Amino acid sequence: MPTKILPDADAFARFTRALLRRGFRKLLKAEFRNDFKRLEPKAPSPREGREVGFTYTANGLSVLVWTTFLSEDDHARDKDAGWVLIKEGDIVKYFSHPLHRTKKFLYNLLRQARIAQLRVLNRPLCPKCHARMHIVQGKGLKARYWKCIRHKVHEEPECLPWDYGLPEAALDFLRIRRKQRAKYRKELRAEGKKPGVALNRRREWKIGRLDNIVPKQ
Ligand SMILES: [Zn+2]
Repeated sequence: MPTKILPDADAFARFTRALLRRGFRKLLKAEFRNDFKRLEPKAPSPREGREVGFTYTANGLSVLVWTTFLSEDDHARDKDAGWVLIKEGDIVKYFSHPLHRTKKFLYNLLRQARIAQLRVLNRPLCPKCHARMHIVQGKGLKARYWKCIRHKVHEEPECLPWDYGLPEAALDFLRIRRKQRAKYRKELRAEGKKPGVALNRRREWKIGRLDNIVPKQ
């Protein structure tokens, strides 16, 4: 694992400006309070402070960017990783690989945020019925694709690949990241470790008030 380098306040301010320029906004305290009361989420382990998060919404989907940066204290949490999620209401449809705080942490987080934003902006409409397509899980750990299952309108489901509609520059970045990850997974296996352990950690958040989740599953 490369050396941990925590972003300082200046680097974080630049990152914030870059996200705001792209149309993201900072999550507000009132939203945290509201969601806490509504859903009663329980973290897998106690955590320090309130983390700065950013959001962007289009076409019925929201991107969330978790930064590991603490709003009150102006510094990054010691132990944590950055994440980019795509949600439909309260339901997480996609989450990125955890982003570790190495030298290019904020750069990578910004790129991932931007790609998620492009996915949401380019959310495909079903070629048959023109309804919004949904994000569904594929066979691999992180595999996703777009799907429409409106049996009443068309018998066969319609599917499109996950990267559908992304511009060439985004695809180039993804190709490099995927190649790096394949190499990393190979190294883990060679050391006898299991890839994907960090991925499951995020899922351990528990919702206290399941009835308040929207949309209803
Ligand atoms: Zn359809």
